[in-house]
Amino acid sequence: MATCTYTVPNLDTSGDNLYGPRICWQAFIDWAWEAFDFDSGDWDDGFGYDEVCNNTQPLSRALSGIYCLTYSSPRFPNESYGGNILEWGCRFARNAIDELDARCGTSSCSPSSCPGSIARTQWGPFTDDLTELYLPFFYNQGVSLRAGTILHESRHADGKGHDSGNNDSSWGYNGAWRWQVCWLSWFAFEGVGASVAMKTQATQRANNIINNNFDTHPGFNV
Ligand SMILES: [Zn+2]
Repeated sequence: MATCTYTVPNLDTSGDNLYGPRICWQAFIDWAWEAFDFDSGDWDDGFGYDEVCNNTQPLSRALSGIYCLTYSSPRFPNESYGGNILEWGCRFARNAIDELDARCGTSSCSPSSCPGSIARTQWGPFTDDLTELYLPFFYNQGVSLRAGTILHESRHADGKGHDSGNNDSSWGYNGAWRWQVCWLSWFAFEGVGASVAMKTQATQRANNIINNNFDTHPGFNV
């Protein structure tokens, strides 16, 4: 990652000290690598391919988000679409996302200033379907927020874009922002294996989205 730099925020607050050792498990790494179609060429050169258990590196931090997306439901391994989104979110995401790539996105990122886009997904006919994760995803979002972002991007990968710039017009549009709010809310309500701080972050992020990313405010907070 010669072209971008970052400083790593507190690893307890973000949840990386909790989840880093969990993802350092070869069977999980192999499963996630296939399920989300990682390629070494998109995660080497400073993104952590050679240091997958290093929780200051992007790859470990992406895998922690996937772990959180996978295992947070108290009813795991039930992933039935008849259940709530905390149960089936990972199933949907890994089926919808074509490939997951790390990119800088912005030239530098510090805990006090981490500008720019978090992630981006492109999809459609004659398009190389892919999802890119940028420095703010790795270093401005704790583990639970990364899980929510991956789910958000998977809604795009399944073909549902935003219908009002970067916003969704309404809750009823049933877009990526609604899905992200729902996942974060269920995680805060009944997620297992997580810290209180991670749940607080999830609730705050959900309310931030509710207040800012719908043209018509849904009319509630969580
Ligand atoms: Zn989006």
